[in-house]
Amino acid sequence: MNVLVVGGAGYIGSHICKNLAANGWKPVVYDNLSRGDRRFVLWGPLVEGDIRDRGKLQETILKYRPVATIHLAAFAYVGESNEDPRIYYNNNVVGSLTLIDALSANGNLPMVFSSSCTVYGNQSNLPLTESHPVAPINPYGNSKLTVENILADYRRAYGFPSTTLRYFNAVGADPDMETGESHNPEPHLIPIILEVAYGDKPHLTVFGNDYPTPDGSCVRDYIHVSDIARAHVLVLEELLKDNAKPLYNLGTGVGYSVLEIVRAVEKVAKVQVPVEFAPRRAGDPATLYADASLIQDHLGWKPEYMELEYIIDTAWRWFKKERIGS
Ligand code: UDP
Repeated sequence: MNVLVVGGAGYIGSHICKNLAANGWKPVVYDNLSRGDRRFVLWGPLVEGDIRDRGKLQETILKYRPVATIHLAAFAYVGESNEDPRIYYNNNVVGSLTLIDALSANGNLPMVFSSSCTVYGNQSNLPLTESHPVAPINPYGNSKLTVENILADYRRAYGFPSTTLRYFNAVGADPDMETGESHNPEPHLIPIILEVAYGDKPHLTVFGNDYPTPDGSCVRDYIHVSDIARAHVLVLEELLKDNAKPLYNLGTGVGYSVLEIVRAVEKVAKVQVPVEFAPRRAGDPATLYADASLIQDHLGWKPEYMELEYIIDTAWRWFKKERIGS
């Protein structure tokens, strides 16, 4: 049975396709390749298309007749969203609405939607449960929350079935090294630290050392991408049985500071990583970590990869493999 993976040529999407295929599903990737890479479409066909192209979406749905959709197609960089919010609202909101309407018009095809912990904004009461108030502090988070709200309204008014997954920070790479993270330039913390460890960059710039955290740098919940992928397949299967809740957090429940991540990379790569401190980056909440007990209690999902150094080791092995291959 086909599952449409929208944004499936990207980092998280490609891990989901691997997991779908391993569980007997046939992933059909729909991606405009603006951020994704056809090299990572390894488990089914690729349809090159944009989520704002209703005609192409319709054609794809009629051709492949998917039973459900996993929707990850989005721009996802906090800094970029501050500089250019238009592209975030256009791609993430207008594009998602076009996709949702296409699925709704084709018999309410169920959707698993990829959202982000950034919708919580600055919170003092941690860990974050799904019932915490949401208050994003950057355009990326606003765009994700808008789509969450559209899905909630469509569920109520039209019975459109969906589950939103709020990921914390996706990191690491497929332990079999079939896929991993590859962006140019790299916007995320761990790949940037790996670039420093490899000697590509002289130092890591740490955004802010005056946050109300134990060492002054931001704290995040870093979850292995394969654990995120596995949760999607589980949620999809439960959504098809009408047994999934509308919203789950996906995190480990453990927070690490930027400086703790630097030290863990130093251990794994066995090199020193110089850091320089810079002012806070606009739109960064001080501390985010999950209470993911809802999905654990309800669907029995829990992260398999809890050891930070192992998680970083998968990212480091992938990083070196990409360098040697290129
Ligand atoms: N960060 C940093 N230097 C960098 C990139 C990121 O200090 O060059 C920090 C960032 O401020 C945040 C954390 O690392 O606190 C994780 O950032 P990332 O962009 O990886 O993910 P985000 O939390 O924005 O989704």
